[in-house]
Amino acid sequence: MNVILFGPPGAGKGTQAKLLINTLGIIQISSGEILRWEVSSGSKLGQQVGAIMETGQLVSDEILIGMISSRIDHPDCINGFILDGFPRTTPQAGALDVMLEKQNLKIDHVIELIVDDESMIKRITGRYTCTKCNAGYHDEFQTPTNDGVCDKCGENIFFRRADDNETTVRSRLHVYHKQTAPIIAYYRECGVLKTVDGMVEIDKVTKQLFDIMG
Ligand code: AMP
Repeated sequence: MNVILFGPPGAGKGTQAKLLINTLGIIQISSGEILRWEVSSGSKLGQQVGAIMETGQLVSDEILIGMISSRIDHPDCINGFILDGFPRTTPQAGALDVMLEKQNLKIDHVIELIVDDESMIKRITGRYTCTKCNAGYHDEFQTPTNDGVCDKCGENIFFRRADDNETTVRSRLHVYHKQTAPIIAYYRECGVLKTVDGMVEIDKVTKQLFDIMG
């Protein structure tokens, strides 16, 4: 099963994708995570894309299309994948169609998480993760039981994404509405787009997604 998850930054695409892949036996392809690995590798490309990501703007279509195309070619995609963060522009959506056709694949579900922008700013600017096990926390909504200590692994060093500050989040939301909304409209017009309420609790969002996927 191949799925595209849409939704603005903070909508919960990554969280939901991680929950779904365990049950469905498919993999998550997060364009943001692929880019962050590149940044942390310290490569020249990583330095270049890291600077763009910190502004909240999009990295070039050419780079993203190359990255996702080689990721989809990987044998671990054979049972299916959830695309989280790609496509984000009209050229990326067109390139995805070409990639799928080449591999004789199709997208089974295109799903948009519906959320409101102001809540996303609060969600994103307060979130942080454990550097060791990647468990997610939030300053207000989900603090560790013991202050400063990860509930899952006991680590005491946490990480905040460089692009999770308010200025960058506002820019990311603006870019989303300007560049990504038109391709969602395209999938809607084709009659393949389904929507779920992304403002409810995490498990309730997951249930809506499973209901769509059958
Ligand atoms: P995300 O983790 O999906 O919120 O993405 C973080 C940042 O990575 C975005 O703000 C962009 O700068 C960049 N990025 C992720 N996916 C894409 C994409 N499909 N096209 C262009 N830039 C992207």
